[in-house]
Amino acid sequence: MNIHEYQAKEVLKGYGVRIQEGIVADTPEAAHEAAVKLKEQTGTSWFVIKAQIHAGGRGKGVVNETGSHGVILAKKLEEVAEKAKNILGGTLVTHQTGPEGKLVNKVLIAEDVYYPGASEPKEYYLSILLDRATGSNVIMASTEGGMDIEEVAEHTPEKIMKEWIDPKVGLQPFQARKVAFALGLSGNAFKEMVKFITALYNAYEGTDSSQFEINPVLKTSDDKILAVDAKVNIDDNALYRQKELAAFRDVAEEDPLEVEAGESGLNYVKLDGNVGCMVNGAGLAMATMDMIKLVGGEPANFLDVGGGANATTVEAGFRIILKDPNVKAILINVFGGIVRCDRIASGVVEAYKTIGDIRVPIIVRLQGTNAAEGAKIIDDSGLKVFSAITLKEAADKVKAVLEA
Ligand code: GDP
Ligand code: MN
Repeated sequence: MNIHEYQAKEVLKGYGVRIQEGIVADTPEAAHEAAVKLKEQTGTSWFVIKAQIHAGGRGKGVVNETGSHGVILAKKLEEVAEKAKNILGGTLVTHQTGPEGKLVNKVLIAEDVYYPGASEPKEYYLSILLDRATGSNVIMASTEGGMDIEEVAEHTPEKIMKEWIDPKVGLQPFQARKVAFALGLSGNAFKEMVKFITALYNAYEGTDSSQFEINPVLKTSDDKILAVDAKVNIDDNALYRQKELAAFRDVAEEDPLEVEAGESGLNYVKLDGNVGCMVNGAGLAMATMDMIKLVGGEPANFLDVGGGANATTVEAGFRIILKDPNVKAILINVFGGIVRCDRIASGVVEAYKTIGDIRVPIIVRLQGTNAAEGAKIIDDSGLKVFSAITLKEAADKVKAVLEA
């Protein structure tokens, strides 16, 4: 589960990670008040207004309606409300949102931390993530902060250093020093960076996260090290014991079809193709999607209805698939184990009649317990539903209806 920057910063601060201070606001008036309060608290007289969406690249991103960038600087308190107004309620398009962009409901009013001083402020990149290949956590660090890290990884991979951490032992002090040293730091900035990395790792562990990305981490002109941005991804499987973090969920940031599917206990992921799929079991769903591609189709979604599929789940699955205007055919591929094929077939026929007005052809492949009975129910229903026994046969029928 992803959370917003303002939420992530609050969490990090709780673990002793130094952050760029800020106050969240959802109207231009609240943005002004936030700036007044922030000035009192931090003494700042410049403010950064940051769109809160679950996507990066906001600084370079543009709000469709106003042309404003998603991260902007206000050098006067009086400008904050107006600049916030140009972002709030707008659609921000960044290289991570896709061309449709994301609606901005909140802005973070943050203190300016790039003030001049003894030295130039310098941006770094730091992330911590789960490395499944080695079964450990890995810290990635780079002096090329503030930039698109994918670009750095592609053109100058030697500029990204990696330090693996055994989750049983945890981060060792020498490892934090090694990372800070690799970033070329010395003196007070080095000490601050060691503290920063240590606190950040504690936060990563304590929140059951699978990914932290702080880009940029800033060394201020007076050698403070702080998080200017924060992307935090919490492991969904840990949310049962991370109740405070679970409350940070923002469904407005999620695909509405995926939210609806979740409420019906379905595991649904929207894709870009034209063949809707309804399958029981994730492995079978993957195999089904492969088959669709093999015959020249593209899956419109991944949908695992789970082991306990019945008429209600089948109907809920149908409704969700049909809301996707790209769907030109639906392939139902269910293995009857505990759930018998005849039950599923009846469920399909029932759902078909209940929903009514289904214009796309449906191919049903039922295997396992009572497969023949299931096929007969489909064939006898008189509906525009085609049955198939083998997966290849099902895929060929999909191909035939797409070409028809
Ligand atoms: P992202 O574009 O979505 O990754 O948003 P970030 O939070 O990383 O901010 C983007 C950029 O805004 C940073 O790389 C900085 O260059 C700039 N920025 C952020 N905070 C400040 C600030 O306090 N002062 C100034 N002058 N620029 C800032
Ligand atoms: Mn960033």
